[in-house]
Amino acid sequence: MTTYRAPVRDMQFVITELADLKGLAVVPGLEEVTPDLVEAVLGEAAKLAGEVLGPLNKVGDDQGASWTQDGVVATEGFPAAYRQFVDNGWNALAGDPERGGQGLPNLVAAAAVEMWNAANMSFALCPLLTAGAMEAINAHASEDLKNRYLPNLVSGEWTGTMDLTESQAGSDLSAVRTKAVPDGDHYRLFGQKIFITWGDHNMAANIVHLVLARLPDAPEGTRGISLFIVPKFLVNADGSLSARNDVSCASIEHKLGIHASPTAVMAFGDKDGAVGYLVGQENKGLAHMFTMMNEARQKIGLQGLAIADRAYQAARDYAKERVQGRPAGQRSGDRVTIIHHPDVRRMLLTMKAQIEAMRAFGYVVSADNDLARRHPDAAERQRRQARVDLLTPVLKGWCTELGVEIASLGIQVHGGMGFIEETGASQYLRDARIATIYEGTTGIQAADLVGRKLTMDGGATMAALLAEIRDVDSQLADARGAGFAAIRAQLATGIEALEQATAWVLQTTGQDQDAVLAASLSYLMLTGYVCGGWQMARAALAAQAGLASSVDEAFYRAKIATATFYAEQILPKGGALLTVVRSGASTALALPEDQF
Ligand SMILES: Cc1cc2nc3c(=O)[nH]c(=O)nc-3n(C[C@H](O)[C@H](O)[C@H](O)COP(=O)(O)OP(=O)(O)OC[C@H]3O[C@@H](n4cnc5c(N)ncnc54)[C@H](O)[C@@H]3O)c2cc1C
Repeated sequence: MTTYRAPVRDMQFVITELADLKGLAVVPGLEEVTPDLVEAVLGEAAKLAGEVLGPLNKVGDDQGASWTQDGVVATEGFPAAYRQFVDNGWNALAGDPERGGQGLPNLVAAAAVEMWNAANMSFALCPLLTAGAMEAINAHASEDLKNRYLPNLVSGEWTGTMDLTESQAGSDLSAVRTKAVPDGDHYRLFGQKIFITWGDHNMAANIVHLVLARLPDAPEGTRGISLFIVPKFLVNADGSLSARNDVSCASIEHKLGIHASPTAVMAFGDKDGAVGYLVGQENKGLAHMFTMMNEARQKIGLQGLAIADRAYQAARDYAKERVQGRPAGQRSGDRVTIIHHPDVRRMLLTMKAQIEAMRAFGYVVSADNDLARRHPDAAERQRRQARVDLLTPVLKGWCTELGVEIASLGIQVHGGMGFIEETGASQYLRDARIATIYEGTTGIQAADLVGRKLTMDGGATMAALLAEIRDVDSQLADARGAGFAAIRAQLATGIEALEQATAWVLQTTGQDQDAVLAASLSYLMLTGYVCGGWQMARAALAAQAGLASSVDEAFYRAKIATATFYAEQILPKGGALLTVVRSGASTALALPEDQF
């Protein structure tokens, strides 16, 4: 089993060279976030990930969380690790300084999120959901609720959950049935939620559930859903804890992966109703919840990247140790480690190139997010927000789908040992598998991309993105050195494919919605591959410039070689996906239901 080592060098490179850390200095409060500060933060975060969270990953998989009459008990070692996480201020990294947070950019927090999730995905889910709950409360709750709940959520003393799903309401939240009955200055909730991540545990003093429910006279469907804070323990006006609320964990699920993350069935109102407080406006709960969901979707995208990197590190280390076979054409002489075989190299580079592409893409979107929220110019905030809105389903969908593919390749590199639990490779695949499902399946992300995000402005944000990607072409044309011609040619082909696919989706929307939806996943993946190619091209250009400094030559040369591999062996998938997009629903819907 390998130890997780955070890829700090690549993270720094992406943050400073591709995601434009310097550009964030226009934001009041971020002027002081220098590369040195980032290096210090990432160094400490990497220590916690490698030394504290990583070693608990296998224990969590083996033992899992357990349900007891008195509540859910986290895996041994997790509560102490969580205490350390909170005491060292990690929960508040990107939190609002006025509420006790450290006010660092999302961009830097994205690297920390990657580390926590790579080291221990089950553990990392707990603060990931707390961060989403903070976002929703901060954006929509009254000042009183903010004052009562935010300080302890920001510090991590309390954790947050997202309570949407019911047995009949998964992808389709219009079917939510949990009831909220007005009772003085609060409400009483009755109903059951399923699959609630970290819905109960013993790592923090209180748990703040953000729950979707319906008022008695609410309209049908999504227009009749409201959002409530339902704390495990009621909270006094001064923030201190009061009586236990009428909310409990009925059971937790046995599942394929993330065993240490309790997936809870939550019962609200078994007695006289769970006390809840309305967040934002009545019947606008789903829109308010989208603040939390968008934040979580971006982070689950980073989770796909993270678990892929963990799988890659294990595969790479194994490939450097495992002796098997001889170099091609040799029948005698020393046997070699498997990293000498071209097909193993191909697998490792397929993993590495896509991981670096995802990291660059994910962090660039995170920096866009900082500017969307905090840029002093309103027009720029709007432009960045449109970009974030368009790319959130791509970040979630593309990175989590690749996370599964890469974790599966990690097993392949291990051969038979990959299938055996002791190497850990199989845990990464089992853990990775959920990321394409929760926070909206990839199918739902793809439908959101073609049905809302792309078409909302008639394709203007996508057109601006394509123009920006095209801008790299002239720099690639000027670049000298091996690889740049291939990068330029393949990127141009990828842009062309995405342009044509976009035109097809826009034309077909409204005429044949089945065709658009049948093509949607291929369109999402095509967008991801091209955005990855764009960032890898930029990375190669930045590496070329870096070579002139003669520091870190090996890193820069590897970056150019990796970007070239991405261009030659990954980006061509774009052409195939264009063909699939254009075929629309004709084949996907060809079979009648009784032939399945
Ligand atoms: C481990 C785990 C943790 C979870 N954590 C949470 C949590 O913390 N909070 C929470 O509220 N929920 C949570 N969930 C629930 C999760 O978000 C849902 O499982 C997910 O949204 C899918 O819903 P579903 O399971 O009902 O599947 P369904 O909605 O029944 O979907 C089944 C299949 O049909 C497809 N499908 C459904 N509708 C459409 C459509 N309109 N268009 C195209 N395809 C469609 C889906 O893509 C999928 O392939 C968790 C689930 C798990 C397993």
